[in-house]
Amino acid sequence: MQKACVIGFPIKHSRSPLIHNYWLQQLGIKGTYEKLEVPPDQLSAFLHSMAENGYTGCNVTIPHKEEVFEHVIINDELTKQIGAVNTIYTHDGKKYGLNTDAYGFISNLKDGCPEWTTQQQTCVLIGAGGAARAIVAALKNDGAKAIHIFNRTVVRAKALAKVFGDKVYAHDFSDLNSILPEADLLVNSTSLGMAGQPPLTIRLQHLPKSCVVTDIVYTPLQTELLLAAKSNGNQIVDGIGMLLHQAVPGFEKWFGIRPEVTAKLRQLVLKDLQDPKS
Ligand code: NAP
Repeated sequence: MQKACVIGFPIKHSRSPLIHNYWLQQLGIKGTYEKLEVPPDQLSAFLHSMAENGYTGCNVTIPHKEEVFEHVIINDELTKQIGAVNTIYTHDGKKYGLNTDAYGFISNLKDGCPEWTTQQQTCVLIGAGGAARAIVAALKNDGAKAIHIFNRTVVRAKALAKVFGDKVYAHDFSDLNSILPEADLLVNSTSLGMAGQPPLTIRLQHLPKSCVVTDIVYTPLQTELLLAAKSNGNQIVDGIGMLLHQAVPGFEKWFGIRPEVTAKLRQLVLKDLQDPKS
C-alpha cells in the first residue's frame, strides 16, 4: 500500500489530505495520505527516514519549501527557477523535488478561461512573495511577452525581476495606472483580499475589458478584486483551482494514475473551507 503525506509547521489547516484522499477513494487505490506536523528542527530527520517510515513521497508546505530544496535532487527546470519545493517523490531509492505551483497556476487559468493563451501576452502581477515567484516562472515559461511586477516592498519586486531577467520588469506602484491599459492578464498574488486582510483596491477603469483577472486568494472565493473586475466587464478566474491543480503531479508520481480536477472535487474543498471538518 502506497503512503504519502503533507509536512509543514503548522499543518492543521492543510486541505491536501482532503484532495488526495478523495482521489484515492474515487480511483479505488489502496493508499493513504496523511498530514504530519514537522517542526523545522525535525525536517532533516523526517526526510532521512521518509522511505524507512513507508512514505513514497510528500507535499511540503510552509515553512519548509526553500529548505527542502537543499535536501533533494532537482531535475525539473521550472523548480530550479522557483527555488522552492512543494512535492517530493522517490525513485530508485533517491528523493526528487518538484514545485507544482507554476503548473497549478497555469492549469487553473486555462481551466477557468479555456481560450486563454499566455503566448505574447502582457501580464501584470501584484505581489513578489513565494507564490509570485512560481507565477512569474509559469508565465515566462508559457511564453508571456512581458511580466510587470508591482509590490508594496519594491526591492522584493526588483529582486524577483532580476532572477528572471528578460521580459520581467519591476515597477513602483505609482506606475500601475500607466501599465494597466496594456494588460492582457492581471494577477493578485498578495495576501490582500484574504479573509482578515485588507482588500486589494486597484482602480480598474484603465484596464481593457479584454483583460483576464485572476486572484490566487481563495478565502473568500470571490475577492473584492474579482468582484470589481466582474462588474468592470472583465473575465475572472478564482484561485481555488490553483490549489487543486497543483496537487495533480504529486498524486500521479506517488500513486501512478493522473487524477482529474472535477467540479465535484472543487465543491468538496469549497464546502470544507466554509465548514471545516478539522
Ligand atoms: P508571501 O511569500 O508571504 O508573500 C506575501 C505577499 O503579499 C508579498 O508580496 C507582500 O508584500 C504582500 N502583502 C502582504 N500584506 C500586504 C499588505 N498589507 N499590503 C500590501 N502587500 C501585502 O505569501 P505567498 O506564499 O506568496 O502567498 C500569498 C497569498 O497567496 C496568500 O494569501 C496565500 O494563501 C495565497 N496562495 C494561494 C495559492 C493557491 O493555490 N491558490 C498558492 C499559494 C499561495 P511585501 O513583499 O511588501 O511584504
